[in-house]
Amino acid sequence: MTFIDIHAHLEFFDDLNIRIKKAKKRNVKIILANGIDVETNRKVLAFAKEYPEVQACLGIYPVNALKLIKKEINSEIKFIKENKDKIIAIGEVGLDLKEAGVETLVTQKEILKKFVKLAKELDKPIFIHSRKAEKETVELLETLDYNKIIMHCFNGKLNLVEKGIHRGWFFSIPASVKFNEQFQEMIKIIPIEQLFCETDAPFLHPDKKFPNEPANVIESYNKIAEIKGIPIADVEKKIEENYRKLFLVKTTQQSLDKYL
Ligand SMILES: [Zn+2]
Repeated sequence: MTFIDIHAHLEFFDDLNIRIKKAKKRNVKIILANGIDVETNRKVLAFAKEYPEVQACLGIYPVNALKLIKKEINSEIKFIKENKDKIIAIGEVGLDLKEAGVETLVTQKEILKKFVKLAKELDKPIFIHSRKAEKETVELLETLDYNKIIMHCFNGKLNLVEKGIHRGWFFSIPASVKFNEQFQEMIKIIPIEQLFCETDAPFLHPDKKFPNEPANVIESYNKIAEIKGIPIADVEKKIEENYRKLFLVKTTQQSLDKYL
């Protein structure tokens, strides 16, 4: 069994080795750490170097990107390019209209376009945040010619989910699906071939506690098994297949064995 936490923020934990051990005990053997700014991007690279279970994803969270000038964003994009062989995806990037005002939308869109262009150039999947800007995000992505997209914690209307399904995008279901009906509804309509599971640790705990951690990703697998009416072993197998397909297409069998 290999469970995968496709999206987590590991810099939060000062007892990371214990959290990773706990995850491993529950067969959560792959954890994708997402950077959210210049500082965490470097931490993510260090975690990936230290722990074979951790895969690195680099990006700038939309609200953090607004604090940077153009030159700083471009220099971070350059840094990501220089480290392209150490990362598995771009993320976390996107649009946010909860913490940022609508007057920032034009700038946010420009920045997101840059990251999608980067993902396309590096041929890596991209993790998209879209809080309170789901419609704007989907509409923008539809104009960009790139579909290796993982919509993370998507909270938009189901007709927007359908647009993503149609384009071949992936959706990652957080462990908070245990109580969150929006994500339960999404599981009903998204084909298992387009699903991933995540914790977004330390956030979105399945029992509304804090902090959440990668070991809890199993709650997402459980809910998918329950709603789709299939054994959890099949969910695990399918999602592992999705992972191999989307992330490791170009790697050799040898490097694949290291992780699976
Ligand atoms: Zn996140």
